Amino acid sequence: MSSLSWFSHRLVPWYREHRRALPWRETRDPYRIWLSEVILQQTRVDQGLAYWQRFVAKWPTVADLAAAREDEVLKQWQGLGYYSRARNLLGAARQVMAEHGGAFPTTHAGLLTLKGVGDYTAAAIASISFGAPEAVVDGNVYRVLARVFGIDTPIDSTAGRKRFKELATRLVDPEHPGDHNQAVMELGATVCTPRNPTCLLCPVQPKCIAFASGRIADLPVKQGTARTRDRFFNYLHVRRDGNLYLRQRTGKDIWQGLFELPLIESEHPLTGPAFAPLLEERLGPGWTVEAHSKEAKHVLSHQVIHACFWTVVPPPGFTPPDDWSLMDPDRHAVPRLIERWLAHTPTSARP
Ligand code: SF4
Repeated sequence: MSSLSWFSHRLVPWYREHRRALPWRETRDPYRIWLSEVILQQTRVDQGLAYWQRFVAKWPTVADLAAAREDEVLKQWQGLGYYSRARNLLGAARQVMAEHGGAFPTTHAGLLTLKGVGDYTAAAIASISFGAPEAVVDGNVYRVLARVFGIDTPIDSTAGRKRFKELATRLVDPEHPGDHNQAVMELGATVCTPRNPTCLLCPVQPKCIAFASGRIADLPVKQGTARTRDRFFNYLHVRRDGNLYLRQRTGKDIWQGLFELPLIESEHPLTGPAFAPLLEERLGPGWTVEAHSKEAKHVLSHQVIHACFWTVVPPPGFTPPDDWSLMDPDRHAVPRLIERWLAHTPTSARP
């Protein structure tokens, strides 16, 4: 028995008794587990559950998902962000069908060959679905291990990632790797939370170095976060008979492939008088600016979008640019920011 086996021996029984009842915990189907892992990388369990249920209801098997159209998948994914993950989901489902005869690879290495599947997801599927002794390491795991073992190597450094992965691998219970991994993550999500962990209910508290030494608030250590960039989006709400003008985002930028109102990006936030000249410069003379919204802030991992929605009237005889089309926004995948604006803009006021 390893000198570290106490960790799993305390955690796994605790997990079996206290775990939240979630549908992907009732199955070993790699498709459903993979879906849950990908969705939960984007959102909390309460919100992710609804997404997972909708995905499974619409596409019950990997073959069903593989046969879906990309815009349908993006629409189901709407609101979760990082749309490349939704594209990878579809790409990986098609790979499973085309390259693996419809069955998921059963090893960590095999799973890593699927689109968008990284070390974390591969370890989760391999351990939960196939009983492979692979360690999952995510933010919850970093926090639990840093505190229990009193490790102050920064979790966002190369040395830290290596050290935590090695420790997590040594800790995995080869008899129950799936439950072991889920137990560590569950402890991090429900007991050993970033702030105010409930140490008195914690099954590893008698061995926890951070608890014994009063260092809970100091662990885990982070080197520092990347600077975020502010961007200023001016969306054009053009009144016209029929639907709204939308355009599809192209190029290597956020929200690639999604639809949005015509956009003018500026270097700074603009006031009413400053916006009219920019509008004229981009789209020609004769526009009337009727109104504008308050700033809507949308925070992404490395960018903060400051958006303003301008209600504008085009000059008579205006011909829209080639990439503008009159569309029903409810039928297309739009960024969350646009979705929120639509929700607060009565349909009668839109076109
Ligand atoms: S005792 Fe407290 S700090 Fe230590 S692992 Fe448990 S919840 Fe986290």
